[in-house]
Amino acid sequence: AQLDTLDIIVLAALLLGTIAYFTKGTYWAVYGDPYGNSLATSNGAAKAGKSRNIIEKMEETDKNCVVFYGSQTGTAEDYASRLAKEGHSRFGLNTIVADLEDYDYDNLDKFPEDKLAVFVLATYGEGEPTDNAVEFYEFIGSEDISFSEGAGADDKPLSNLKYVAFGLGNNTYEHYNSMVRNVDKYLTKLGATRLGKAGEGDDGAGTMEEDFLAWKEPMWAAVTESMGLEEREAVYEPVFEITEKPEMDAEADEVYLGEPNKNHLEGAQKGPYNANNPFIAPIAESSELFTAKDRNCLHMEISVAGSNLSYTTGDHIAIWPTNAGKEVDRFLTILGLAPKRHTVIKVKALDPTAKVPFPSPTTYDAAVRYHMEICAPVSRQFVSTMAQFAPNEDVKAEMTKLGSDKDYFHEKVIDRNLNLAQLLEILSNGEPWTKVPFSLMIEGLIKIQPRYYSISSSSLVQKDKIAITAVVESLEKPGAPHILKGVTTNYLLALKQKQHGEPEPDPHGLNYAITGPRNKYDGIHVPVHVRHSNFKLPSDPSKPIIMVGPGTGVAPFRAFIQERAAQAKAGQNVGKTVLFFGCRRKEEDFLYQQEWDQYKEALGDNFILHVAFSRDGPKKVYVQHKMEEWAEELDKLLQQKAYFYVCGDAANMAREVNTLLGKIIAKHRNVSETKGEEIVKAMRASNQYQEDVW
Ligand code: FAD
Repeated sequence: AQLDTLDIIVLAALLLGTIAYFTKGTYWAVYGDPYGNSLATSNGAAKAGKSRNIIEKMEETDKNCVVFYGSQTGTAEDYASRLAKEGHSRFGLNTIVADLEDYDYDNLDKFPEDKLAVFVLATYGEGEPTDNAVEFYEFIGSEDISFSEGAGADDKPLSNLKYVAFGLGNNTYEHYNSMVRNVDKYLTKLGATRLGKAGEGDDGAGTMEEDFLAWKEPMWAAVTESMGLEEREAVYEPVFEITEKPEMDAEADEVYLGEPNKNHLEGAQKGPYNANNPFIAPIAESSELFTAKDRNCLHMEISVAGSNLSYTTGDHIAIWPTNAGKEVDRFLTILGLAPKRHTVIKVKALDPTAKVPFPSPTTYDAAVRYHMEICAPVSRQFVSTMAQFAPNEDVKAEMTKLGSDKDYFHEKVIDRNLNLAQLLEILSNGEPWTKVPFSLMIEGLIKIQPRYYSISSSSLVQKDKIAITAVVESLEKPGAPHILKGVTTNYLLALKQKQHGEPEPDPHGLNYAITGPRNKYDGIHVPVHVRHSNFKLPSDPSKPIIMVGPGTGVAPFRAFIQERAAQAKAGQNVGKTVLFFGCRRKEEDFLYQQEWDQYKEALGDNFILHVAFSRDGPKKVYVQHKMEEWAEELDKLLQQKAYFYVCGDAANMAREVNTLLGKIIAKHRNVSETKGEEIVKAMRASNQYQEDVW
């Protein structure tokens, strides 16, 4: 629900009060809580307490370079902080990292000539800005933009602004890197000067990190030349000061043992629940959807009753994971921190513009278990930085080689799916890396990210219970020393096992702290929040719909069909409801096989299910084949303005379905393939074609 002004004022007053009390006047009082805005909506908090004037902020803190980020999953934010750190250590720039949503932009025309703005911008979904970049993007691209001095788009109001730009995108999406491309275009048009090229990283090709590294060097060369900087010997300077408090009891009330914020620490969780403040939700039911022994797919019903969290069919739920105990142990052991894992630490930013990414005081164990993404792929640049802290000269030489040789790094690290602790363990043969400052770990690893799931229930049918359909990630690579276990899905698997009272939850020895900090998640709970999406059923149920969702791509379509079946039962006129589903084998991974029959009873002949089995016969059959077989009817329905939906694998399936649909249209309407493609594009533009892909 929308907050009204009074709510915001009250919340803001509460927020300031609690922060001032809690921090006793340390830097948080000025810079907000560690998550930026746990208690109020971000704007409310920012407007109430912090200045939204970036130029003033840079002056006050003596900075000459701001690195803005538009980030959804944390990667752009990570790149931004890496650029800020590198700009400082190598070139002596005084840098500040800035969340795009924390500032206003109508004074950019006053941005000083001798300073630099860096934009690190991820593109999300169908060419959209990330949530935190929406306002900035609307402002900078506005046709009737106006700045504080009154200048509009026709002048060159930003002729003082020097900037560099890097985009994070995925070439499997139609609007590849459109954020950075458009922002770059708008800034140039407004008279700003870009230094170096606008970089583009491609997650679709799996080259994001290498694209970033390759873009960076020429960019720095352009920046040093333009700003008259000189490169210096980079020395590591910690961003955070870690103070151990051996005299403090880890169980003391003020110590965070994994609680996401102060509300949770005090025991009474309070809404509004959002991306900064999860609801600890009970899992009402859980079950296994596959019959295959070696693969798991979970159906879970998560109760949001009493939380004020609401969803509508087609939305996403975010699950906040906990790292596996096995990996937490490995991480703490290889850094030599295991013996003091429960020592209380205070973490403070040495530079007042840096944000501590988790609340403190805490313990090493809690910080690593609940807040740091310790299992993610390792970055080559980070390996370079870590070389100086190797336990001996041989290991240092190997780290340096890995850091500088792209192919070698791929062969030894990326291709073997190693996480950081696994790599360090292998390189030093288990000898602990005791010289590594813990600050470097906080800087180098991103905050643990909530994972999104397409909600597989209808809000009309069960408004207080959110279902998910999640396949458990377990990747075994030939020659790799470890099996890669997905962070969130294996945590969910352990929860499911606990719920079913299995004698040995966690057969893989992953050993999760399932009951959460201070046993607050006991009784099978998981922290969640809801994210609204634009993936929606037509408001008129009599409109026909066509859905393509192989594998877990079927998740939102179970919700759609559940909803339409309920509408039909209630006597509403429900249109044709066509689902293309695909899996390996009928007996193994045919999701919701029995349920479809029930929906068929409610929807009658209006429900049509096409299933493709890729491993049941001599020939691999995919959803695309089924679409081709049924092409004529498909096109007919589209001409009757059927809505067309695709969900699931972005890399291959969604793109192929898009192309195929153009061909089907061309063939059956007797037009050229180019025209067919144009029709599909127009369908997308008018929302007749919607995608929910990942
Ligand atoms: P992670 O630990 O995040 O690992 C995921 C993958 O990252 C691995 O398989 C691997 O490829 C790579 N990786 C991780 N660590 C390493 C490493 N050290 N080295 C190399 N590679 C590595 N999923 C569903 O099952 N059902 C859904 O309905 C669903 N809906 C989604 C909707 C949206 C909008 C989005 C964005 C995603 C959706 N997903 C869905 C995917 C889901 O969010 C998760 O990404 C997925 O469940 C894996 O999460 P995980 O934490 O278990 O795995």
